[in-house]
Amino acid sequence: KYHEQLVELKGNIRVLCRVKPVLKEDQHEEGQSVVVTTDPNNESALSVLKGQGRSHNFELDRVFHPQATQEEVFQEIEPLVTSCIDGYHVCIFAYGQTGSGKTYTMEGSTENPGINQRALKHLFSEIEDRKDMWIYTVTVSSVEIYNEVLRDLLSKDGEKLDIKINPDGTGQLHVPGLRLIEVKSFQHIKKLLAQARRNRITFGTQMNQHSSRSHALLMITVLGTDLASGAKTTGKLNLVDLAGSERVWKSGAEGERLKEAQNINRSLLALGDVIQALRGKEKHIPFRNSRLTYLLQDSLGKGNKTAMVVQVSALESNVGETMCSLKFAERVC
Ligand code: ADP
Ligand code: MG
Repeated sequence: KYHEQLVELKGNIRVLCRVKPVLKEDQHEEGQSVVVTTDPNNESALSVLKGQGRSHNFELDRVFHPQATQEEVFQEIEPLVTSCIDGYHVCIFAYGQTGSGKTYTMEGSTENPGINQRALKHLFSEIEDRKDMWIYTVTVSSVEIYNEVLRDLLSKDGEKLDIKINPDGTGQLHVPGLRLIEVKSFQHIKKLLAQARRNRITFGTQMNQHSSRSHALLMITVLGTDLASGAKTTGKLNLVDLAGSERVWKSGAEGERLKEAQNINRSLLALGDVIQALRGKEKHIPFRNSRLTYLLQDSLGKGNKTAMVVQVSALESNVGETMCSLKFAERVC
């Protein structure tokens, strides 16, 4: 109920920021001083030191300091996951430069699983709690978008996919050949997540750092049937680990690398445009400008719910990218 109040107050887009802790392996970098500070007395405030004593203050829906745990981050997301069982369409994005912790937040590690696993665990436990009144079917698919090409992360060979909208006049999004796997338990989904992760690594072998230049999507559909009335609900949960937002084209990228950078840039801009349009009163939502927004359009529309976790590094050496990410956050906020 607290969450419903928030939605009324702030619309249905929540912008969170997570500051990555400075790790041992970050220590060899130049510009090691910490320039991003959080405020222990204000959970929405963040400040970035820009040199010469000047600082820039940001206000977001919620800021996680570097020591925040995976569980704390998930607690903020949990109401959205619950609402997808009630029939909402939900998108959770991790945004930020490569190395800022997007994959850590979404996938996490074996000891510290991230949002993906926690969300699914929560889903199955809620479904169990409601089983006297509702039955649910959960299906999962997973795709990667690299250079505007979609691949199925749950197929053996990473089949390329095409998106079609409205082929049967229902207005439903249709991706021919996309594997939709029905899952019955959290253990089953854990296996599928591991498979998607392995596939993402295998497809990327020809390409250095391929995974930082592609978007990875985990798409969950929750079909509910009320046992008493037969009423049905369709909820969706889209969990998206976005491509790195760094501005590579500024560093003299050429050929494939430049094309890649332009595609990433275009799709992240398109996502920002869509979210900004949804926030405002605009009638036209520019979904068609990228595969990413096209694929997610039935979950990004008005009446649905979105959370954007903007990941930032605290180090001086990354201050340019940190400012860019926070400006993106402010734009959609
Ligand atoms: P990205 O996906 O944005 O490129 P990663 O999630 O791969 O970044 O993070 C880079 C490194 O930092 C990884 O080794 C990851 O385990 C580590 N890391 C990121 N965030 C945290 C955190 N909150 N706590 C501990 N380690 C983290
Ligand atoms: Mg990553």
